[in-house]
Amino acid sequence: MKIAILPGDGIGPEIMAEAVKVLNALDLRLETETAAVGGAAYESHGHPLPEHTLNLAKAADAVLFGAVGDWKYDTLERALRPEQAILGLRKHLGLFANFRPAICYEQLTHASSLKPELVAGLDILIIRELTGDIYFGQPRGRRIAVDGHFPGAEEAFDTMRYSRPEVERIAHVAFQAARKRRGKVTSVDKANVLETFQFWKDVVTQVHAEYPDVQLDHMYVDNAAMQLVKAPKSFDVIVTGNMFGDILSDEAAMLTGSIGMLPSASLDKAGKGLYEPSHGSAPDIAGKGVANPLATILSAAMMLRYSLHQPEAADRIESAVQAVLSAGLRTGDIWSEGTQRVGTREMGDAVVSALHGKAGTATKTITKS
Ligand code: NAD
Repeated sequence: MKIAILPGDGIGPEIMAEAVKVLNALDLRLETETAAVGGAAYESHGHPLPEHTLNLAKAADAVLFGAVGDWKYDTLERALRPEQAILGLRKHLGLFANFRPAICYEQLTHASSLKPELVAGLDILIIRELTGDIYFGQPRGRRIAVDGHFPGAEEAFDTMRYSRPEVERIAHVAFQAARKRRGKVTSVDKANVLETFQFWKDVVTQVHAEYPDVQLDHMYVDNAAMQLVKAPKSFDVIVTGNMFGDILSDEAAMLTGSIGMLPSASLDKAGKGLYEPSHGSAPDIAGKGVANPLATILSAAMMLRYSLHQPEAADRIESAVQAVLSAGLRTGDIWSEGTQRVGTREMGDAVVSALHGKAGTATKTITKS
């Protein structure tokens, strides 16, 4: 099993080192190869997604991605900015299904901005369509309006669109994922206003006929945003389009307390995927050794489960993370009174120790706060 390791920028290399350490501790036959991506690749190769990196990602069984981006690249022309690397990988690898679980670990309930009873035991999965919708629809641009409220004025426009096969394949992904969970899908749309999402709703309903064992609900996106903070545990799997999924998945991330805990997966039609933490490159804390590596470590677990068919190894990593949290170890983003603050490396070491049944053994390197 070959894994392309793309650490990227900012905290990317620091958190990736810990995820690789954890993978190596599993004694699986994994071959890893590392390549530059994002700003790091721009510096070394003049492009955020060099051909060598793309070819490696295409040839690998799975891609483990850190994060890309830094404010110092904000003045570069758009095609050369680090973020183009992730967009390019999604496009070239055909990654149309984005899985963003939002799990609130019992040990971190108090870190959520919601009341503990609303989030305790939260375990929902947002499946976002990743390659269509208004983000990619053509035509788009700027022009002089010929009609509307202000004919003759400058205006900008984008195109929202979904084709039947695009909606069908993401609906299948959602129903199949729900079968492995609590058997419920909520399809989020704006069918009351948008033709694109009336079509989305119709197609999802038709696909549902093949999954009579799965419960399907439909919800408007504004209500879904409200229910996510009112009764988040009422959801199991949420499936939605690219733009609504972008917004709702960040909202759901914050229910769990810290974005530093949340993994994600982007899958193609064959189940090959790119796995990355939900957060960005956090340039504000890069190089300080304080970033939380758990989202990346949990992304590696998702990779083992979804692309490499090693569910036991995935379970082992997730249990090790639970054990480390139960032992009271915390990076700064999830630290609270009464727990022990550790750095990025110590957290990775602790997960490795927990894999070997020794949770909390990294405490000797802990700096007290
Ligand atoms: P960010 O997620 O990088 O950081 C937001 C806040 O969360 C910061 O305060 C940061 O310190 C903190 N944070 C993030 N990850 C953390 C971790 N693992 N441990 C502890 N704290 C953590 O978002 P941003 O600041 O809006 O963006 C920074 C850069 O990342 C930008 O260049 C942006 O374009 C890029 N970005 C990249 C991706 C990606 O690579 N897929 C995703 C989002 C943002």
